[in-house]
Amino acid sequence: MIEDFARHSLLGRAQVNDILDLRIHDLRTGATDRHRTVDDAPFGGGPGMVLMPGPVFAAVEAADPPRPLLLLGPAGQTLTQPLARELAAGHGFSLLCGRYEGVDARVVEHLVDGEVSIGDYVLGGGEVAAMVVLEAVGRLVPGVMGNAASAGEESFSDGLLEHPHYTRPADFRGWRVPDVLRSGDHAGIARWRRAQSLVRTLRLRPDLIAARGGLTAEEEGSVVELTDGRDPATP
Ligand code: SAH
Repeated sequence: MIEDFARHSLLGRAQVNDILDLRIHDLRTGATDRHRTVDDAPFGGGPGMVLMPGPVFAAVEAADPPRPLLLLGPAGQTLTQPLARELAAGHGFSLLCGRYEGVDARVVEHLVDGEVSIGDYVLGGGEVAAMVVLEAVGRLVPGVMGNAASAGEESFSDGLLEHPHYTRPADFRGWRVPDVLRSGDHAGIARWRRAQSLVRTLRLRPDLIAARGGLTAEEEGSVVELTDGRDPATP
């Protein structure tokens, strides 16, 4: 599943170009019985199965993967752009995927270095979460994306959502691209994009504005300019 995903995403090209080294290990290599069993019923009863510590420890110890080793699970630290940046800037990391009801608690206590969640909902397994982490982190590694500058300007890079994008045609069904973007006035374009980014964030994610401590006086000014003094939170 993950190999196939990597092949069809920007991670695949990066691997071919020796920029990323992605290795996938099967938990069942840590199983010892004929059926390669990795799960068992929970002590104390209840529904579902739990991944046994034996196979998980054995598979991880055999692979000796780069640390930190992060377990994927809803109890973890939520993946954010700053966390993705932190992982991209490091010397590698590993992800451990759970299944069923999750992993034996001793894996959490004695094997992994931390836990990462991709959001407040429950998935059936850690694989999709691993792909989310891989893609968010992978595209921040220098050389993985074609245009290195674009990762620095996009949503969340400075606590704001990105400005809207337009491409050809300039007039699509009567909906025209804003004139400033076709004016060739680079400073004007930069000002417009900045103001759009501020207004969109105020409108769609006021929590992000609050988290960065509000707007500076200069930002306030550019918002007023773009919205003609109307309340930026009203569409
Ligand atoms: N019983 C657990 C959920 C297990 S879901 C609980 O209530 O917390 C099975 C596996 O899916 C987990 O072990 C984990 O690896 C993965 N998973 C589920 N939700 C996830 C999330 N929000 N983020 C990351 N991984 C998740």
